[in-house]
Amino acid sequence: MSFDEMGIKDDLLRGIYNYGFEKPSAIQQRAVLPIISGRDVIAQAQSGTGKTSMIALTVCQIVDTKSSEVQALILSPTRELAAQTEKVILAIGDYINVHAHACIGGKSVGEDIRKLEHGVHVVSGTPGRVCDMIKRRNLRTRAIKLLILDESDEMLSRGFKDQIYDVYRYLPPELQVVLISATLPNEILEITSKFMTDPVRILV
Ligand code: AMP
Repeated sequence: MSFDEMGIKDDLLRGIYNYGFEKPSAIQQRAVLPIISGRDVIAQAQSGTGKTSMIALTVCQIVDTKSSEVQALILSPTRELAAQTEKVILAIGDYINVHAHACIGGKSVGEDIRKLEHGVHVVSGTPGRVCDMIKRRNLRTRAIKLLILDESDEMLSRGFKDQIYDVYRYLPPELQVVLISATLPNEILEITSKFMTDPVRILV
């Protein structure tokens, strides 16, 4: 299947081609359609498979850029990955005018507050800082419809389990969840059974 056949909005398609992609990678072939049609998805995939671009593409497709509320939240295990995801969203989503912000530890909270007040559609962050911004009420969660947990096994091994559960408690009940992980140990399966409904499983 080509990007053209995925029902992706025109200005986003333009961003994808302009970014240099011609054909979807295996994970993009299999995960994009279920995600943009609203299904919960468990994707067992390593880095380097095109998963970051898959995340960028799907969040850009589902956000309404006419609204100024946060509609998609991506949690990543490291600042570098969260920042990289933000970067790819901004690049691919250039023509749809998406506002994304990386909420990551080690950067100023003041800058987070300023950006969030200005209106952001997508937040890509590490669990600790995101949890903090939600509790401070600077990150408003009521319009969030999609939660993506990237490199979930890595987030757990870095001790972020409690923060992930904490963040989840603040999100609306009608939430779509996408979980990406290289491995699926019991702690991950626990998350999938607590957070997800009838998920599509993809192994790449
Ligand atoms: P990612 O896992 O998304 O970080 O992707 C790994 C590398 O593959 C990055 O350099 C991406 O730019 C590239 N990549 C991802 N998806 C595609 C695609 N559909 N076509 C060509 N390159 C891609």
